[in-house]
Amino acid sequence: MPLVPGPLMRKLSSRYIAGERLDQALEVLGHLQAEGYQGILDILGEDVADAAEARMVQTAYMDAASDLAERKLQAYISIKPTHLGLRISQDLALDLYRSLAQHCQDLGLFLRVEMEDHTTTDETLALHKALRAEFECVGIVIQSRLFRTEEDLQSLPPASNIRMVKGIYLEPAAIAHTEAGPIRDAFASQSIALLKAGHRVAFATHDQELGDGLIRACQEHSIAPDAWEFQVLMGVQRPLWERWKKMGARVRVYVPFGPNWRAYSTRRLAKNPQILMHVIRATLGLSGGRSQRKS
Ligand SMILES: Cc1cc2nc3c(=O)[nH]c(=O)nc-3n(C[C@H](O)[C@H](O)[C@H](O)COP(=O)(O)OP(=O)(O)OC[C@H]3O[C@@H](n4cnc5c(N)ncnc54)[C@H](O)[C@@H]3O)c2cc1C
Repeated sequence: MPLVPGPLMRKLSSRYIAGERLDQALEVLGHLQAEGYQGILDILGEDVADAAEARMVQTAYMDAASDLAERKLQAYISIKPTHLGLRISQDLALDLYRSLAQHCQDLGLFLRVEMEDHTTTDETLALHKALRAEFECVGIVIQSRLFRTEEDLQSLPPASNIRMVKGIYLEPAAIAHTEAGPIRDAFASQSIALLKAGHRVAFATHDQELGDGLIRACQEHSIAPDAWEFQVLMGVQRPLWERWKKMGARVRVYVPFGPNWRAYSTRRLAKNPQILMHVIRATLGLSGGRSQRKS
């Protein structure tokens, strides 16, 4: 992937990334909203090693939140802790998240703390806990791949808002499931257990069998429809979004943008080479993904 020429790389990425600028991402979110989808706005980037850069990222998120509210878009912001300086210091990241959460609360917006690889799990859970002590409008991501997740779920603050994912990072077999079956089973059982315990859960997946099963389970357990939703990535498996929307589910689309698109795509590939297969399959029309870009 690092050797792929810029224009080709940009073409491959444009399916999954709204553009380099905020106005491009807002336009995509607007189109999606007109089609009945809610949104999530993410500025691409991670592993910031300089405090001044982390502050600049926070300012960009502040502006993005203001614009979401001004345009009345049904969307919220989602941020990786290492993009706000977690690798530099937990205090720095907490400070930056805290003022962002205050801003979101004032605007009536939600803010998601994303989950990265296992070296950051403890600190990310602690960040979420500290933020939730002050703000209702903050949620977290939980990875069903990790063995520790079962225990982590017990210490979440009451009435948390959780995005359940399989986990994008390939973790060592000593700490994580490596086969698809157990990861999917844990996703399903943990999601239902969380809902029954009074949390809200976003099922972030493109796995049709898993998603259909979760809809059935929510109905069987009489779980309120507003307690859960699906979350999907821009450009990935669009027919599935339509399927779940028609089945009565709320579907929210993750729209990433930013100048770091190339570095982000390359790093992601290094962490999980399967993504390249997804890109190739989607480009060749072998999977159901279709671009959300209107132009
Ligand atoms: C909204 C959202 C937010 C996320 N946030 C996080 C996070 O904070 N931390 C984290 O670790 N992980 C995150 N993830 C990633 C998640 O952990 C999985 O790695 C990813 O969703 C793929 O798993 P799947 O459940 O879709 O199932 P899979 O079994 O991997 O995929 C199901 C189908 O979808 C297709 N597909 C899946 N992903 C792609 C793709 N990128 N491009 C093209 N086709 C694809 C596959 O071809 C397959 O046919 C997020 C995912 C989503 C949807």
